[in-house]
Amino acid sequence: MTGEEFAQRWKQSGIPGGRPRALEAYAAFYREGVLIPELKCTIEELGIGAVVRTHTSESNEGTVLKFTQRVPKALPTAKSQAAASHDRQPGTPTSVSLPVQGGSAGEDATVETESVVIPMVGRKRELSYTICVSSQVGCAMGCVFCQTAQMGLLRHLKPQEIVAQWWAARHAVQRPDASAPIDNIVFMGMGEPLDNFDNVMKAIEILTDRRGPAIAMRRITISTVGRVDGIERLMEQVQKPGWHQLGLAVSLNAPSDAVRSGIMPVNRAWNMGELRKRLCTWGSASRAHLCLEYVLIPGVNDGPQHAAELAAYVHGEEFENRRALFGEGEEPGFDDAQVARYPGASLRGLVNLIPYNPREQSPWRAPTDEEAEQFMQWLRGLGVYCKRRRTKGRDQMAACGQLGNLAYRRASKKPLTK
Ligand code: SF4
Repeated sequence: MTGEEFAQRWKQSGIPGGRPRALEAYAAFYREGVLIPELKCTIEELGIGAVVRTHTSESNEGTVLKFTQRVPKALPTAKSQAAASHDRQPGTPTSVSLPVQGGSAGEDATVETESVVIPMVGRKRELSYTICVSSQVGCAMGCVFCQTAQMGLLRHLKPQEIVAQWWAARHAVQRPDASAPIDNIVFMGMGEPLDNFDNVMKAIEILTDRRGPAIAMRRITISTVGRVDGIERLMEQVQKPGWHQLGLAVSLNAPSDAVRSGIMPVNRAWNMGELRKRLCTWGSASRAHLCLEYVLIPGVNDGPQHAAELAAYVHGEEFENRRALFGEGEEPGFDDAQVARYPGASLRGLVNLIPYNPREQSPWRAPTDEEAEQFMQWLRGLGVYCKRRRTKGRDQMAACGQLGNLAYRRASKKPLTK
């Protein structure tokens, strides 16, 4: 809950100290990791899942840390919460506890969230961290290149379980350089954040609460598979005061419907044209940058023709002007129909090129450095604003698209519909 909600609950429970003490305790809990003595609760009782595993791997910017937290397999029901509250000792102020308790789940009734803390060295050579958080355990979206997709969707995460990942990174796990701040939060871990919209928005409200974690909204990015209905809801959300700098990253991963539908089932519900129409209007709704993620998979989407098609998608009608970049006879093999397919202005965003990180039993290998560099040069030659993400944590299955423990695989997956 937010600081204001917490102070109100504190008051209703009649705990001494009133609003000033409630807000002081709330700030200390988030900023210094100090437990609130008046609540008489352990960290686990507050809903912060125990950190059960950590893995580290080295990158050229520092140590990448992946950690897992245990959470109940099933969401607590109203009945289990009522029972938990009935079982408590008289006088214990359960109504003020920060998150919801996990019920009576034992070890065999638990699953794990996964989060990755990624070092970033800035332009002035200063170190900071980005935390990549999960919004669900597993995922229903079924992208064929992704490890998480192999699990299916086990469940949505509650707001407190999302916030708990940031809290654990800040206060519970040993970061190699604990003095460097965790500056950015990206929803790029397990799950599709827009599939769990309300809980993710509530988590962001708490993370940006100036009385608690106080993360700047511009430091938070939602990454979506391209759910157009979710992007529409997000565009309404960023109209609200304080939300206009929330970042959006969209996993495009293909230059055409033919390729995208083959690797991302979401494209059969909302094709690239429908997605583009929404993205064209993102700039009028938000002040934050738009990022188009492109996982580069050898033999699937990494040829010169793919680069040309992607450039046509990014530039839309404005692509005509870009042809001047090519000399006589150098123009790649696209035609006017390709450009006409995407009416509207150029997408004002960055294309973030992500060399594929193979999942378990992947039919594809990772691209070589040279292949990734070549594709980036093709895009740049076509006037696309493009950067390449440096691979971090691949050897520990901590890189992009590699999260998820297949021991928790779900038997059946929810079909995706509009
Ligand atoms: S890439 Fe993202 S949306 Fe697609 S299956 Fe993996 S976690 Fe889900």
